[in-house]
Amino acid sequence: RPAIVWFRDDLRLADHPALHEAASGRPLICVYVLDDVTPALHPVGSALRWWLHGALADLRAQLESRGGTLLTLAGSAEDLLPQLARHMDAGSVHWHYRLHERERAQDDRIQQALEQQDCEVRAHWGTVLLDPDTVRTKQGGFYKVCGSFWKALQTHIVPEPLGMPDGLSFQDVPDSVLPDKRLNEADLCPRVPDWAAGFRTTWEPGEAEGQEHLEDFLKDAVAEYPRGRDRVAEEGTSRLSPYLASGAVSPRQVWAALQTHGAHTDGPRIFLSELGWREFARYTLYHLPQLPFENLSAKFSGMRWRNSAADLKAWQRGQTGVPIVDAGMRQLWQTGWMHNRARMIVGSFLTKHLLIDWKEGEAWFRDTLVDADFANNAMNWQWVAGTGIEATPFFRIFNPTRQAEKFDPDGDYIRQWVPELRRLSGKALFEPWAAKEADLRQGGVILGKTYPRPIVDLKDGRDRALQAFRAL
Ligand code: FAD
Repeated sequence: RPAIVWFRDDLRLADHPALHEAASGRPLICVYVLDDVTPALHPVGSALRWWLHGALADLRAQLESRGGTLLTLAGSAEDLLPQLARHMDAGSVHWHYRLHERERAQDDRIQQALEQQDCEVRAHWGTVLLDPDTVRTKQGGFYKVCGSFWKALQTHIVPEPLGMPDGLSFQDVPDSVLPDKRLNEADLCPRVPDWAAGFRTTWEPGEAEGQEHLEDFLKDAVAEYPRGRDRVAEEGTSRLSPYLASGAVSPRQVWAALQTHGAHTDGPRIFLSELGWREFARYTLYHLPQLPFENLSAKFSGMRWRNSAADLKAWQRGQTGVPIVDAGMRQLWQTGWMHNRARMIVGSFLTKHLLIDWKEGEAWFRDTLVDADFANNAMNWQWVAGTGIEATPFFRIFNPTRQAEKFDPDGDYIRQWVPELRRLSGKALFEPWAAKEADLRQGGVILGKTYPRPIVDLKDGRDRALQAFRAL
Protein backbone atom coordinates (compact mmCIF):
# COMPACT_ATOMS: atom_id res chain seq x y z
CA ARG A 1 0.00 0.00 0.00
CA PRO A 2 1.32 3.50 -0.77
CA ALA A 3 2.47 5.97 1.87
CA ILE A 4 1.26 9.58 1.78
CA VAL A 5 3.64 12.38 2.76
CA TRP A 6 1.69 15.46 3.75
CA PHE A 7 3.91 18.51 3.11
CA ARG A 8 3.04 21.61 5.13
CA ASP A 9 5.62 24.21 6.23
CA ASP A 10 8.45 21.81 5.32
CA LEU A 11 8.71 22.23 1.54
CA ARG A 12 11.99 20.42 0.96
CA LEU A 13 13.35 16.94 0.34
CA ALA A 14 16.55 16.95 2.40
CA ASP A 15 16.32 16.65 6.20
CA HIS A 16 12.67 15.68 5.96
CA PRO A 17 12.16 12.94 8.60
CA ALA A 18 8.55 12.28 7.49
CA LEU A 19 9.58 11.72 3.85
CA HIS A 20 12.60 9.73 4.93
CA GLU A 21 10.50 7.29 6.92
CA ALA A 22 7.71 7.05 4.36
CA ALA A 23 10.18 6.30 1.60
CA SER A 24 11.49 3.09 3.06
CA GLY A 25 10.33 0.67 0.41
CA ARG A 26 6.82 2.03 -0.20
CA PRO A 27 5.51 3.92 -3.21
CA LEU A 28 4.94 7.54 -2.24
CA ILE A 29 2.16 10.04 -2.77
CA CYS A 30 3.32 13.58 -1.98
CA VAL A 31 0.56 16.06 -1.24
CA TYR A 32 0.12 19.70 -0.20
CA VAL A 33 -3.26 21.06 0.92
CA LEU A 34 -4.09 24.77 0.91
CA ASP A 35 -6.79 24.93 3.55
CA ASP A 36 -8.63 28.24 3.47
CA VAL A 37 -11.84 26.53 4.55
CA THR A 38 -10.84 25.34 8.02
CA PRO A 39 -7.39 26.81 8.64
CA ALA A 40 -6.20 25.77 12.07
CA LEU A 41 -5.06 29.34 12.81
CA HIS A 42 -5.41 31.99 10.10
CA PRO A 43 -5.58 31.63 6.31
CA VAL A 44 -2.24 31.90 4.53
CA GLY A 45 -1.34 35.57 3.87
CA SER A 46 -1.07 37.11 0.40
CA ALA A 47 2.72 37.51 0.18
CA LEU A 48 3.27 34.00 1.51
CA ARG A 49 0.89 32.72 -1.18
CA TRP A 50 3.16 34.27 -3.76
CA TRP A 51 6.10 32.51 -2.12
CA LEU A 52 4.19 29.24 -2.03
CA HIS A 53 3.56 29.47 -5.74
CA GLY A 54 7.30 29.26 -6.35
CA ALA A 55 8.08 26.89 -3.49
CA LEU A 56 5.48 24.32 -4.59
CA ALA A 57 6.69 24.51 -8.18
CA ASP A 58 10.24 23.91 -6.95
CA LEU A 59 9.20 20.93 -4.83
CA ARG A 60 7.20 19.46 -7.71
CA ALA A 61 10.15 19.87 -10.09
CA GLN A 62 12.42 18.10 -7.63
CA LEU A 63 9.96 15.24 -7.24
CA GLU A 64 9.46 15.02 -11.01
CA SER A 65 13.19 14.74 -11.54
CA ARG A 66 12.98 11.61 -9.34
CA GLY A 67 10.00 10.16 -11.21
CA GLY A 68 7.22 11.45 -8.94
CA THR A 69 5.13 14.57 -8.60
CA LEU A 70 3.40 16.80 -6.04
CA LEU A 71 -0.36 16.69 -5.76
CA THR A 72 -1.75 20.06 -4.64
CA LEU A 73 -5.27 20.27 -3.28
CA ALA A 74 -7.48 23.09 -2.04
CA GLY A 75 -10.12 22.67 0.65
CA SER A 76 -10.57 21.29 4.14
CA ALA A 77 -7.57 19.19 5.13
CA GLU A 78 -9.80 17.27 7.52
CA ASP A 79 -11.89 16.06 4.60
CA LEU A 80 -9.24 15.77 1.93
CA LEU A 81 -6.56 13.72 3.68
CA PRO A 82 -8.91 10.83 4.63
CA GLN A 83 -10.54 10.98 1.18
CA LEU A 84 -7.20 10.80 -0.60
CA ALA A 85 -6.05 7.94 1.63
CA ARG A 86 -9.30 6.05 0.93
CA HIS A 87 -9.18 6.57 -2.85
CA MET A 88 -5.56 5.44 -3.00
CA ASP A 89 -5.80 2.72 -0.32
CA ALA A 90 -2.84 4.28 1.49
CA GLY A 91 -1.35 2.31 4.36
CA SER A 92 0.17 5.29 6.14
CA VAL A 93 0.30 9.09 6.22
CA HIS A 94 3.48 10.85 7.37
CA TRP A 95 3.81 14.43 8.54
CA HIS A 96 5.73 16.75 10.81
CA TYR A 97 4.12 17.85 14.05
CA ARG A 98 2.67 21.32 14.18
CA LEU A 99 2.89 23.43 17.30
CA HIS A 100 -0.27 25.30 18.13
CA GLU A 101 -2.95 23.46 20.11
CA ARG A 102 -5.54 24.14 17.37
CA GLU A 103 -3.22 22.68 14.76
CA ARG A 104 -2.53 19.68 16.94
CA ALA A 105 -6.22 19.19 17.62
CA GLN A 106 -6.85 19.26 13.88
CA ASP A 107 -4.06 16.74 13.34
CA ASP A 108 -5.60 14.51 16.04
CA ARG A 109 -8.98 14.58 14.28
CA ILE A 110 -7.37 13.71 10.94
CA GLN A 111 -5.41 10.93 12.59
CA GLN A 112 -8.59 9.46 14.09
CA ALA A 113 -10.36 9.55 10.74
CA LEU A 114 -7.40 7.88 9.04
CA GLU A 115 -7.03 5.20 11.68
CA GLN A 116 -10.72 4.39 11.37
CA GLN A 117 -10.03 3.46 7.78
CA ASP A 118 -7.02 1.34 8.72
CA CYS A 119 -4.41 3.91 7.72
CA GLU A 120 -1.57 4.51 10.15
CA VAL A 121 -0.28 8.01 11.00
CA ARG A 122 3.39 8.64 11.70
CA ALA A 123 4.54 12.06 12.93
CA HIS A 124 8.01 13.51 13.50
CA TRP A 125 9.55 16.79 14.60
CA GLY A 126 10.81 18.39 11.43
CA THR A 127 10.36 22.16 11.73
CA VAL A 128 12.17 22.76 15.02
CA LEU A 129 15.53 21.82 16.49
CA LEU A 130 13.97 19.80 19.31
CA ASP A 131 10.62 18.54 20.53
CA PRO A 132 9.34 21.45 22.70
CA ASP A 133 8.63 19.04 25.56
CA THR A 134 12.33 18.18 25.80
CA VAL A 135 13.51 21.51 27.16
CA ARG A 136 12.14 21.82 30.69
CA THR A 137 13.04 23.85 33.77
CA LYS A 138 14.29 22.00 36.86
CA GLN A 139 10.76 22.12 38.22
CA GLY A 140 9.42 20.53 35.04
CA GLY A 141 7.82 23.70 33.72
CA PHE A 142 8.68 25.58 30.55
CA TYR A 143 11.03 28.52 30.11
CA LYS A 144 9.64 32.02 29.75
CA VAL A 145 12.95 33.75 29.03
CA CYS A 146 14.70 33.11 25.74
CA GLY A 147 18.26 33.29 27.13
CA SER A 148 17.62 30.55 29.72
CA PHE A 149 15.71 28.47 27.19
CA TRP A 150 18.53 28.69 24.69
CA LYS A 151 21.15 27.81 27.27
CA ALA A 152 19.12 24.77 28.36
CA LEU A 153 18.47 23.68 24.78
CA GLN A 154 22.17 23.60 24.07
CA THR A 155 22.70 20.98 26.76
CA HIS A 156 20.66 18.56 24.62
CA ILE A 157 21.79 16.84 21.48
CA VAL A 158 20.23 18.31 18.37
CA PRO A 159 19.70 15.49 15.84
CA GLU A 160 21.93 15.61 12.78
CA PRO A 161 20.07 16.68 9.65
CA LEU A 162 19.16 13.89 7.24
CA GLY A 163 20.50 13.95 3.69
CA MET A 164 18.58 13.86 0.43
CA PRO A 165 16.54 10.67 0.23
CA ASP A 166 17.47 8.39 -2.64
CA GLY A 167 15.80 5.53 -4.45
CA LEU A 168 12.31 7.01 -4.11
CA SER A 169 9.42 5.26 -5.83
CA PHE A 170 6.03 6.83 -6.44
CA GLN A 171 2.40 5.96 -6.89
CA ASP A 172 0.49 7.87 -9.58
CA VAL A 173 -2.70 9.60 -8.48
CA PRO A 174 -5.16 9.37 -11.40
CA ASP A 175 -6.88 12.57 -12.57
CA SER A 176 -10.17 11.03 -11.51
CA VAL A 177 -9.19 11.28 -7.81
CA LEU A 178 -10.57 14.46 -6.19
CA PRO A 179 -10.70 16.27 -9.55
CA ASP A 180 -12.70 19.20 -8.18
CA LYS A 181 -10.29 19.68 -5.27
CA ARG A 182 -7.14 20.33 -7.29
CA LEU A 183 -5.46 23.62 -6.36
CA ASN A 184 -5.26 26.16 -9.13
CA GLU A 185 -1.76 27.36 -8.32
CA ALA A 186 -2.08 30.44 -10.52
CA ASP A 187 -4.59 31.72 -7.93
CA LEU A 188 -1.78 31.95 -5.42
CA CYS A 189 -0.26 34.98 -7.14
CA PRO A 190 -1.58 38.37 -6.03
CA ARG A 191 -4.43 39.83 -7.99
CA VAL A 192 -3.28 43.39 -7.35
CA PRO A 193 -1.47 44.13 -10.62
CA ASP A 194 2.25 44.35 -10.18
CA TRP A 195 2.36 43.90 -6.42
CA ALA A 196 4.72 40.98 -6.82
CA ALA A 197 7.09 42.72 -9.25
CA GLY A 198 9.50 43.62 -6.44
CA PHE A 199 9.17 40.15 -4.92
CA ARG A 200 10.25 38.56 -8.18
CA THR A 201 13.41 40.65 -8.43
CA THR A 202 14.28 40.05 -4.77
CA TRP A 203 13.52 36.39 -4.20
CA GLU A 204 13.72 32.99 -5.74
CA PRO A 205 11.86 30.43 -3.63
CA GLY A 206 13.18 26.88 -3.54
CA GLU A 207 15.29 24.41 -1.64
CA ALA A 208 18.52 24.85 -3.62
CA GLU A 209 18.22 28.65 -3.41
CA GLY A 210 17.76 28.40 0.35
CA GLN A 211 20.92 26.31 0.70
CA GLU A 212 22.78 28.80 -1.49
CA HIS A 213 21.63 31.67 0.74
CA LEU A 214 22.94 29.81 3.76
CA GLU A 215 26.29 29.02 2.15
CA ASP A 216 26.79 32.56 0.83
CA PHE A 217 25.98 34.02 4.21
CA LEU A 218 28.43 31.72 5.97
CA LYS A 219 31.11 32.54 3.44
CA ASP A 220 30.63 36.29 3.19
CA ALA A 221 28.75 37.81 6.10
CA VAL A 222 28.58 35.70 9.26
CA ALA A 223 31.88 36.96 10.66
CA GLU A 224 30.58 40.54 10.41
CA TYR A 225 27.12 39.64 11.69
CA PRO A 226 27.49 41.19 15.18
CA ARG A 227 27.95 44.61 13.58
CA GLY A 228 26.23 44.14 10.22
CA ARG A 229 22.96 42.76 11.54
CA ASP A 230 21.76 46.14 12.76
CA ARG A 231 22.75 48.19 9.71
CA VAL A 232 19.48 48.52 7.83
CA ALA A 233 21.02 49.51 4.49
CA GLU A 234 23.49 46.62 4.40
CA GLU A 235 23.04 42.97 3.51
CA GLY A 236 24.39 42.04 6.92
CA THR A 237 21.82 39.34 7.72
CA SER A 238 21.20 35.99 6.07
CA ARG A 239 17.75 36.68 4.53
CA LEU A 240 17.00 33.05 5.24
CA SER A 241 13.67 33.82 6.90
CA PRO A 242 11.30 32.96 4.00
CA TYR A 243 13.25 29.75 3.38
CA LEU A 244 12.99 28.81 7.05
CA ALA A 245 9.33 29.84 7.27
CA SER A 246 8.31 27.70 4.29
CA GLY A 247 10.69 24.92 5.30
CA ALA A 248 12.93 25.04 2.21
CA VAL A 249 15.75 25.09 4.75
CA SER A 250 15.41 23.28 8.08
CA PRO A 251 16.64 24.72 11.38
CA ARG A 252 18.75 21.59 11.91
CA GLN A 253 20.55 22.23 8.64
CA VAL A 254 21.36 25.76 9.79
CA TRP A 255 22.42 24.50 13.21
CA ALA A 256 24.69 21.83 11.73
CA ALA A 257 26.23 24.25 9.20
CA LEU A 258 27.08 26.65 12.01
CA GLN A 259 28.69 23.91 14.15
CA THR A 260 31.24 23.35 11.42
CA HIS A 261 31.67 27.08 11.02
CA GLY A 262 33.05 28.01 14.41
CA ALA A 263 29.87 28.15 16.51
CA HIS A 264 31.85 29.57 19.43
CA THR A 265 33.22 32.59 17.63
CA ASP A 266 31.20 35.79 17.86
CA GLY A 267 29.53 35.95 14.44
CA PRO A 268 28.26 32.36 14.27
CA ARG A 269 27.36 32.33 17.97
CA ILE A 270 25.23 35.47 17.75
CA PHE A 271 23.66 34.29 14.52
CA LEU A 272 22.79 30.97 16.17
CA SER A 273 21.17 32.84 19.04
CA GLU A 274 18.78 34.35 16.47
CA LEU A 275 17.88 30.83 15.47
CA GLY A 276 17.33 30.46 19.21
CA TRP A 277 14.70 33.22 19.05
CA ARG A 278 12.98 31.33 16.25
CA GLU A 279 13.00 28.15 18.31
CA PHE A 280 11.81 30.05 21.39
CA ALA A 281 8.90 31.54 19.43
CA ARG A 282 7.79 28.03 18.44
CA TYR A 283 8.29 26.76 21.97
CA THR A 284 6.18 29.65 23.30
CA LEU A 285 3.45 29.05 20.71
CA TYR A 286 3.39 25.41 21.84
CA HIS A 287 3.19 26.18 25.55
CA LEU A 288 1.17 29.41 25.39
CA PRO A 289 -1.36 29.02 22.58
CA GLN A 290 -2.87 32.44 23.26
CA LEU A 291 0.35 34.00 21.86
CA PRO A 292 -1.08 35.08 18.47
CA PHE A 293 -4.40 36.22 19.90
CA GLU A 294 -4.03 37.87 23.31
CA ASN A 295 -1.62 40.04 25.28
CA LEU A 296 0.51 37.59 27.24
CA SER A 297 0.83 40.19 29.96
CA ALA A 298 -2.68 40.39 31.43
CA LYS A 299 -2.05 43.97 32.56
CA PHE A 300 -2.66 45.13 29.00
CA SER A 301 -6.21 43.83 28.80
CA GLY A 302 -7.39 47.29 29.89
CA MET A 303 -5.14 49.16 27.44
CA ARG A 304 -7.00 51.89 25.59
CA TRP A 305 -5.56 51.44 22.13
CA ARG A 306 -6.55 54.07 19.57
CA ASN A 307 -8.80 53.18 16.72
CA SER A 308 -7.63 55.28 13.78
CA ALA A 309 -8.15 53.82 10.33
CA ALA A 310 -6.41 56.84 8.75
CA ASP A 311 -3.24 56.49 10.85
CA LEU A 312 -3.17 52.74 10.33
CA LYS A 313 -3.43 53.21 6.58
CA ALA A 314 -0.70 55.85 6.53
CA TRP A 315 1.55 53.42 8.42
CA GLN A 316 0.73 50.51 6.10
CA ARG A 317 1.45 52.60 3.01
CA GLY A 318 4.66 54.17 4.31
CA GLN A 319 3.15 57.64 4.38
CA THR A 320 3.58 58.59 8.03
CA GLY A 321 5.95 61.50 7.35
CA VAL A 322 8.64 59.84 9.51
CA PRO A 323 11.32 58.78 7.00
CA ILE A 324 12.78 55.69 8.69
CA VAL A 325 9.29 54.33 9.38
CA ASP A 326 8.18 54.96 5.81
CA ALA A 327 11.37 53.38 4.45
CA GLY A 328 10.71 50.17 6.40
CA MET A 329 7.06 49.98 5.43
CA ARG A 330 7.84 50.55 1.76
CA GLN A 331 10.61 47.95 1.77
CA LEU A 332 8.01 45.54 3.13
CA TRP A 333 5.41 46.43 0.50
CA GLN A 334 7.86 46.27 -2.37
CA THR A 335 9.89 43.20 -1.46
CA GLY A 336 7.77 41.25 1.05
CA TRP A 337 10.57 41.54 3.61
CA MET A 338 11.85 44.13 6.05
CA HIS A 339 15.10 44.39 7.97
CA ASN A 340 14.74 43.25 11.60
CA ARG A 341 15.84 46.63 13.01
CA ALA A 342 13.29 48.40 10.81
CA ARG A 343 10.61 45.91 11.97
CA MET A 344 11.35 46.97 15.54
CA ILE A 345 11.22 50.67 14.65
CA VAL A 346 7.94 50.51 12.71
CA GLY A 347 6.45 48.24 15.39
CA SER A 348 7.33 50.64 18.17
CA PHE A 349 5.98 53.57 16.14
CA LEU A 350 2.66 51.81 15.53
CA THR A 351 2.08 50.58 19.07
CA LYS A 352 3.48 53.57 20.92
CA HIS A 353 3.54 56.79 18.90
CA LEU A 354 0.26 55.88 17.19
CA LEU A 355 -1.01 53.80 20.14
CA ILE A 356 -2.57 51.25 17.80
CA ASP A 357 -3.02 47.65 18.98
CA TRP A 358 -0.12 45.35 17.99
CA LYS A 359 -2.66 42.92 16.53
CA GLU A 360 -3.19 45.36 13.65
CA GLY A 361 0.53 45.30 12.93
CA GLU A 362 0.68 41.54 13.29
CA ALA A 363 -2.15 41.13 10.78
CA TRP A 364 -0.55 43.49 8.25
CA PHE A 365 2.81 41.75 8.50
CA ARG A 366 1.10 38.36 8.26
CA ASP A 367 -0.45 39.41 4.99
CA THR A 368 2.55 41.19 3.43
CA LEU A 369 5.67 39.29 4.57
CA VAL A 370 7.02 36.47 2.44
CA ASP A 371 8.45 35.10 5.70
CA ALA A 372 5.12 35.44 7.56
CA ASP A 373 5.31 33.03 10.44
CA PHE A 374 2.67 32.74 13.21
CA ALA A 375 5.14 32.12 15.98
CA ASN A 376 7.86 34.63 15.06
CA ASN A 377 5.43 37.32 14.05
CA ALA A 378 3.22 37.17 17.13
CA MET A 379 6.11 36.80 19.55
CA ASN A 380 7.98 39.73 18.06
CA TRP A 381 4.92 41.96 17.96
CA GLN A 382 4.26 41.22 21.61
CA TRP A 383 7.91 41.90 22.32
CA VAL A 384 7.88 45.25 20.53
CA ALA A 385 4.57 46.31 22.08
CA GLY A 386 5.69 45.33 25.57
CA THR A 387 2.72 42.99 26.03
CA GLY A 388 4.70 39.73 25.90
CA ILE A 389 6.20 37.64 28.67
CA GLU A 390 9.76 38.61 27.91
CA ALA A 391 9.25 41.94 26.24
CA THR A 392 10.83 45.33 26.04
CA PRO A 393 8.98 47.44 28.67
CA PHE A 394 6.16 49.48 27.18
CA PHE A 395 7.67 52.72 28.49
CA ARG A 396 10.85 52.14 26.49
CA ILE A 397 9.84 53.96 23.34
CA PHE A 398 12.16 54.06 20.32
CA ASN A 399 12.82 57.54 19.02
CA PRO A 400 12.68 56.85 15.26
CA THR A 401 15.03 59.70 14.42
CA ARG A 402 17.72 58.50 16.85
CA GLN A 403 17.28 54.96 15.55
CA ALA A 404 17.76 56.17 11.97
CA GLU A 405 20.85 58.18 12.88
CA LYS A 406 22.34 55.15 14.60
CA PHE A 407 21.43 52.33 12.25
CA ASP A 408 21.23 54.17 8.92
CA PRO A 409 23.93 56.76 9.59
CA ASP A 410 24.45 57.68 5.93
CA GLY A 411 20.74 57.69 5.20
CA ASP A 412 21.16 55.13 2.39
CA TYR A 413 18.18 53.06 3.51
CA ILE A 414 15.90 56.08 3.64
CA ARG A 415 17.13 57.29 0.24
CA GLN A 416 16.55 53.88 -1.31
CA TRP A 417 13.00 53.40 -0.09
CA VAL A 418 11.81 57.02 0.16
CA PRO A 419 13.30 58.39 -3.04
CA GLU A 420 11.43 61.71 -2.84
CA LEU A 421 13.80 62.59 0.04
CA ARG A 422 17.02 61.42 -1.61
CA ARG A 423 18.36 64.92 -2.23
CA LEU A 424 18.14 65.88 1.44
CA SER A 425 21.18 65.50 3.61
CA GLY A 426 22.16 65.57 7.27
CA LYS A 427 19.43 66.01 9.83
CA ALA A 428 16.90 67.14 7.23
CA LEU A 429 16.82 63.59 5.82
CA PHE A 430 16.01 62.10 9.21
CA GLU A 431 13.62 64.86 10.38
CA PRO A 432 12.36 66.83 7.38
CA TRP A 433 9.70 68.52 9.52
CA ALA A 434 12.43 70.23 11.56
CA ALA A 435 14.51 71.28 8.54
CA LYS A 436 14.93 74.83 7.28
CA GLU A 437 12.58 75.77 4.45
CA ALA A 438 15.59 76.59 2.25
CA ASP A 439 17.13 73.13 2.78
CA LEU A 440 13.87 71.45 1.89
CA ARG A 441 13.47 73.60 -1.21
CA GLN A 442 17.00 72.79 -2.30
CA GLY A 443 16.24 69.08 -1.87
CA GLY A 444 13.06 69.43 -3.93
CA VAL A 445 10.82 68.60 -0.97
CA ILE A 446 7.54 70.37 -0.23
CA LEU A 447 6.13 69.04 3.02
CA GLY A 448 2.47 68.15 2.75
CA LYS A 449 2.85 67.91 -1.02
CA THR A 450 5.81 65.83 -2.18
CA TYR A 451 6.20 64.14 1.22
CA PRO A 452 3.72 64.05 4.15
CA ARG A 453 4.04 66.06 7.31
CA PRO A 454 4.34 63.66 10.28
CA ILE A 455 0.97 62.21 11.23
CA VAL A 456 1.96 62.51 14.87
CA ASP A 457 4.31 64.83 16.71
CA LEU A 458 6.92 62.48 18.13
CA LYS A 459 6.91 64.07 21.58
CA ASP A 460 3.11 64.25 21.80
CA GLY A 461 2.80 60.65 20.62
CA ARG A 462 5.31 59.51 23.20
CA ASP A 463 3.53 61.40 26.01
CA ARG A 464 0.16 60.01 24.95
CA ALA A 465 1.54 56.46 25.02
CA LEU A 466 3.07 56.92 28.44
CA GLN A 467 -0.17 58.36 29.76
CA ALA A 468 -2.16 55.37 28.43
CA PHE A 469 0.38 53.03 30.02
CA ARG A 470 0.23 54.81 33.39
CA ALA A 471 -3.55 54.58 33.34
CA LEU A 472 -3.41 50.77 33.27
P1 FAD B 1 18.91 36.81 10.35
O1 FAD B 1 19.34 37.93 11.22
O2 FAD B 1 19.85 36.32 9.33
O3 FAD B 1 18.48 35.62 11.32
C1 FAD B 1 18.48 34.24 10.91
C2 FAD B 1 17.15 33.60 11.24
O4 FAD B 1 16.91 33.64 12.63
C3 FAD B 1 15.96 34.30 10.61
O5 FAD B 1 15.78 33.91 9.28
C4 FAD B 1 14.84 33.89 11.52
O6 FAD B 1 14.34 32.61 11.19
C5 FAD B 1 15.52 33.84 12.87
N1 FAD B 1 15.34 35.11 13.57
C6 FAD B 1 16.09 36.22 13.48
N2 FAD B 1 15.61 37.18 14.31
C7 FAD B 1 14.53 36.66 14.91
C8 FAD B 1 13.62 37.15 15.86
N3 FAD B 1 13.70 38.36 16.39
N4 FAD B 1 12.61 36.33 16.24
C9 FAD B 1 12.48 35.08 15.75
N5 FAD B 1 13.35 34.57 14.85
C10 FAD B 1 14.35 35.35 14.44
N6 FAD B 1 10.52 36.64 11.47
C11 FAD B 1 9.93 35.73 10.69
O7 FAD B 1 10.56 34.78 10.25
N7 FAD B 1 8.58 35.84 10.38
C12 FAD B 1 7.82 36.87 10.84
O8 FAD B 1 6.60 36.90 10.55
C13 FAD B 1 8.45 37.86 11.64
N8 FAD B 1 7.74 38.93 12.10
C14 FAD B 1 8.37 39.89 12.86
C15 FAD B 1 7.65 40.98 13.34
C16 FAD B 1 8.27 41.97 14.10
C17 FAD B 1 7.47 43.14 14.64
C18 FAD B 1 9.65 41.86 14.39
C19 FAD B 1 10.35 42.91 15.21
C20 FAD B 1 10.38 40.78 13.94
C21 FAD B 1 9.76 39.77 13.18
N9 FAD B 1 10.48 38.65 12.71
C22 FAD B 1 9.83 37.71 11.94
C23 FAD B 1 11.87 38.38 13.18
C24 FAD B 1 12.99 38.94 12.31
O9 FAD B 1 12.75 40.28 12.00
C25 FAD B 1 13.17 38.16 11.01
O10 FAD B 1 13.25 36.79 11.26
C26 FAD B 1 14.48 38.59 10.32
O11 FAD B 1 14.44 39.97 10.05
C27 FAD B 1 14.62 37.81 9.03
O12 FAD B 1 15.74 38.23 8.32
P2 FAD B 1 17.02 37.30 8.19
O13 FAD B 1 16.63 35.94 7.76
O14 FAD B 1 18.00 38.03 7.35
O15 FAD B 1 17.51 37.25 9.71
